[in-house]
Amino acid sequence: MIKRLFILLLCVAMVPRLNAASLPDLGDVAASELSPQAERRLGESIIQEIRLRDNAYLDDPEVEEYVGRLGQRLVASGPAPNQQFDFFVVRDGTLNAFALPGGYIGVHTGLILAAESESELASVLGHEIAHVTQRHIAQLVGKQGQASMVMLASMLVAVLAARSNSQISEAAVAAGQAGVIQSQLGYTRDFEREADRIGLQTLESAGFDVRGMPGFFERLQRAGRLYENNAPSYLRTHPLTAERISDMGNRVGQMRYRQVPDSPEFGFVRAKLRVAAAAPLDAVRELEALVAKSPNVAAQNYGLARAYFAAGRLDDAEKTLEPLRREKPGSPFLESFAAELRSARRDAPGAVEILDAATRRFPDNRSLRYARMDALLEAGRAQEAATLARSGIQDRSDDARLWTYVARSEAALGHRTAQHRAQAEVYVLQGSLLAAIEQLEIARRAGDGDFYQLSAVDARMRELKAEERQRREEKRNGG
Ligand SMILES: [Zn+2]
Repeated sequence: MIKRLFILLLCVAMVPRLNAASLPDLGDVAASELSPQAERRLGESIIQEIRLRDNAYLDDPEVEEYVGRLGQRLVASGPAPNQQFDFFVVRDGTLNAFALPGGYIGVHTGLILAAESESELASVLGHEIAHVTQRHIAQLVGKQGQASMVMLASMLVAVLAARSNSQISEAAVAAGQAGVIQSQLGYTRDFEREADRIGLQTLESAGFDVRGMPGFFERLQRAGRLYENNAPSYLRTHPLTAERISDMGNRVGQMRYRQVPDSPEFGFVRAKLRVAAAAPLDAVRELEALVAKSPNVAAQNYGLARAYFAAGRLDDAEKTLEPLRREKPGSPFLESFAAELRSARRDAPGAVEILDAATRRFPDNRSLRYARMDALLEAGRAQEAATLARSGIQDRSDDARLWTYVARSEAALGHRTAQHRAQAEVYVLQGSLLAAIEQLEIARRAGDGDFYQLSAVDARMRELKAEERQRREEKRNGG
């Protein structure tokens, strides 16, 4: 968070369209610490902006689901198992992970690729989770006072929007005000010590290899020395001292030794990200060399198949993938990729068939369900896609992806009232109440809704208008 804050500070002038209007009312100005509710609302408004406007937000449900599962496993073993957390991935080669206010934890793809074991990746997540559960962010942000915090948050949002602008170099950021803000917002040594201690306990109770923590942090530090002024951004916000590393080492020395194998998914995620980060021909060359050296590593073969796919070599991709799919126990990653290959061959029914079987085998996997809805839509089976999306919404009504599938399916069926009714919910979840109200107005006028649908549209419209009014009043009253 902080690193991005810097970048923003210097380029605010370049981004005239600040989106402060979308920031929530944050409550008591005098409080020295942000209340949990205000913290969650602040985080929510930031993540909504990131999802909408930050090109680097990785919209890959499969990778997001993996990181989310890993994170939730740690949360469940940590000091606040019932606290709400959301994990997301940022397409960025630098080594970084950060916690936004309210339990939104972002991980750079560069960090996932740099981790040599799943326990190492888990150790960074555990550390970030601890910053949230110990309310470090609430304390840091609260100290800034509400006015400056709103300013900081709105700048943060603007910088995210501007990230794709290549003129914003990190080098420029090192100078100027950035240092001042960093000293105000960077984690203190006490916070770091506490996050290490709690993070390590969490890592152990979640069943990971605790040596992953000092191991990874030590490697981060070495990388920092290597690049001198261009130290991994993680180290700038989480000052890493020799004392911290030796503290971790001492604690780990007192814990039980445990060898923990990585999950197959850890390898698949890394292979997928690795291929996506490289030019297709380079990826093919690199992975062919790796597979030649050790032909039986499933993740590397999967990576090679993906590299062939990216290079347009569908036959080679299939030939490499098929033997992996025949092995036990199999993986959702292999099945969704097999379906992707079917789609690329314009065989939507074939893709649906693979995904039908895969969702029966892996019923808890959410990204397989998204892929299945895509394939159903492609195959012209919009009614089934709509039913599937709606049944998902019964469990997770705050999932904007599912509402998008409802809207797309209803559009394909020519049901305009239902389409715009669903699109309104997408906008609500993205934080744009006005856009949502407009969709409901379109739904009202569409002319194909029955009495019950229209009553539901009216009722929802009243709710949203009331909420919108309330937000405006909060702002006027100095929120
Ligand atoms: Zn930290």
